Order: sequence, then structure tokens, then C-alpha cells
Amino acid sequence: MAYVTTIEGLAAIREELADLYRDLHQHPELSLQETRTAGILAQALRPLGYEVTERVGGTGVVGVLRNGPGPTVMLRADFDALPVQEKTGLPYASEARATDGDGHEVPVMHACGHDMHAACLVGAASLLASAKESWSGTLLLVFQPAEELARGARDMVADGLFDRFPKPSIVLGQHVAPLPAGFIGHGSGPLMAGADTVRVTLHGRGGHGSRPEAAIDPVLMAANVVTRLQGIVAREVPPSEMAVVTVGRLSAGSKPNIIPDTADLGINIRSGTPHTRALVQASIERIVRAESAASGAEREPDIEWRESAPVLISDPEATATTLAALTAHFGPERIFPMPPVTASEDVGVFGEALGVPTVFWFWGGLEPDVVFKALAENAIDKLPANHSPHFAPLIEPTLSTGVEALVTAALAWLDS
Ligand code: ZN
Ligand code: ZN
Repeated sequence: MAYVTTIEGLAAIREELADLYRDLHQHPELSLQETRTAGILAQALRPLGYEVTERVGGTGVVGVLRNGPGPTVMLRADFDALPVQEKTGLPYASEARATDGDGHEVPVMHACGHDMHAACLVGAASLLASAKESWSGTLLLVFQPAEELARGARDMVADGLFDRFPKPSIVLGQHVAPLPAGFIGHGSGPLMAGADTVRVTLHGRGGHGSRPEAAIDPVLMAANVVTRLQGIVAREVPPSEMAVVTVGRLSAGSKPNIIPDTADLGINIRSGTPHTRALVQASIERIVRAESAASGAEREPDIEWRESAPVLISDPEATATTLAALTAHFGPERIFPMPPVTASEDVGVFGEALGVPTVFWFWGGLEPDVVFKALAENAIDKLPANHSPHFAPLIEPTLSTGVEALVTAALAWLDS
């Protein structure tokens, strides 16, 4: 079968890919700043024969390989990093720092594994290009920036991704996860939650800390909002529905004896359906306005909805086709089903924009024995997961498994 001959080439590029991965890991870049990474990825693709276009929707990189008649298959990887101080202790750990969008200097780390995604897609690009005789069709490789802001996919689509390049009939992607390395976790239908972020500014009236009667305290207002927001999931969303409301950022004031003018909240929500999403959004706005009014604020709060990613649906029919190929390649013992997760991904934006199916899966990056032991001890939540300062996948077998999964899934959709 085609994938066997294609994947045989992996041994020859494994070391080079590991070097690429370590380099990306050691030099992470924040969302919207990924210029070095984009340059390296573009440079890796060109010698393989892909038509490469840079700066698509910001720092996005697109590679196209036309190889005769047949379907166009899109493979997607993201490549931005996070403001996290790496604590893995690895020899190739990041010490990078950068200035974030708010002007703060922050540590930077590939804490979500997007460096692994990008390296695997380069590996798949290489294998598929070197085995052109075993498939027919067009490959559209999309290296997407700014996933962590849930905007990179939208930015690439808005920049004409599907007008300037061949339109795919399927979108394929994967995410490394705290699962046993070498294993694939899959779902069908709703896979990852929808995510939205809202920034709220509460307006009080500043004054001396000793004279609260002359001020309107936005800190008290913010404290009440934080507490009250927790009632949305507890009391308003039906227990059978998935929703999360997290206040991840709360800032106000500069000195203990000054009542500040304003308080800022950064709130992130996750929802399992569009209906729940609308409910949670409306409730947040209601609570914020009501607490502001209850405090006697003279000015309405500012409520600014920012990043947004739709619920990620792995198309059931297309997932079944892809999964059959992955199972044939890896063997059923390395594939297991997963329930939907509350994490989010903006990869769904691509398929939605074109009305074509998306198939997405997870694959493991942690030492299998450690994961199985944690499972046995009911301590799975204690394992380092995505966004943790301790999260870094084992290079192998994670890299090989990720490359093989992409190649196998792509060949399931290309003509043979
Ligand atoms: Zn992430
Ligand atoms: Zn991620």
C-alpha cells in the first residue's frame, strides 16, 4: 500500500526533523510575532518542491504541491507559542523573552506543542514530496500563526487563503496532548469547545483609600463580578451542557491607599454548543452591567468581545474514513476514543469557511508508563498538560507518530 513506501523515508529524515523541532522549541515566538519560525518553515519547504508563499494572514506560510489530477487535501499545523516560563529543565528549553501585545515583557515557551505540530508537518511534506509516484492530487500545506489568540485561521482566510490557493475538499489537522506517546486519541462530531474572550473595564471613581465614601470602588465591583460570574455555569447552564467561565486576568490599582478609577477583567468562556455560547455571553454582559449599576457607577462598563473559535466538529463520516486508514497503519491497539474536551482550536474556521469537512485528532507526547500509572492512580490531572510550564512532548516517538499520522491521513484522501 502507498503509505508503507511513503513512510519508509522517515528514518532518513528523523534526525533532521528532531533538530528542527529542538530549534523551534528553543526559539518560541508569541502569536503575531512568529517571523523567525515562519521563515524557517518556508525555508524547509522550498527545497522539497512546494510553491511557498509567506505572510498569508500575518506570518502564515502556505505550501502547494500539484501532483496531477485528484482532490486537494489541506494539512494544517499552527506554530505560535505562549507567554509561559519554561520549567522542563530540558537541554533545549526556551529562555526566550518577548514583549506581548499589551507592552509587557514576558517569558515565551512552546507550552502547547505547536513546535511539534510544525515539525511534523514539515516531515509529512517531505515524505509526501519524495513519494509523488504513490499518490495523485494537490497538497495544500497551511502553517498557521496566532492560534493561541484564536485569530490566525480567520486572518489567513480573510487574506484570501482559499482564493489565492487551491480549494481543499478536506481539512486535516492534529494536536499533541498529554496522552501516551505513540498513541492516537480520536473523537467524532463535537471534539473541542467553542472559545470566546471578553475584556471588561469597570468604571468607578478614584479617591483616597481613607475616604471610600467619596469614591466608587471598582475593586469591590470587580470582586463581586468575579464571584457572581461563577453562578452562570452553576445556576444558568443546564447541567447536561458543557460550559466554562474563567476570569484569567484581573487588575486594578497601584497602591494600597488609593482607590483606583477602573478595574480590568479578562474573561475566557468555553461552550459545547452555539446555544450555550449565546447564553453564557448574554449572562456575562447582564452581570457586568448589573454589578456596575449596583455599585452606583456613573459610567457604563466597557465590554469588548475579542478572540473567538467555533466549536470544533470532526466530521463523523470523514473521521470514519480517516480513522480506518490510521487504524490500518498504527494497529487498533494504538488508537483509542476520547470524549470532547474543553480546550479549543480555531482549525474549524477553515472548513467552515469553505463548507468542507474537518478531521482532527490528538496524539500523545508523554512517557506511556507515566500516563498509564497516573491512570491507574486516578491522577491523570496531575500530569503536565498543554500550557503547563512542564509540558514538552518526548521527541520520539511523538515526532514519528505525528508525521506518520499526517501522511497516512493525507493518503486516505488523495488519489492513489
Ligand atoms: Zn494552546
Ligand atoms: Zn494548541
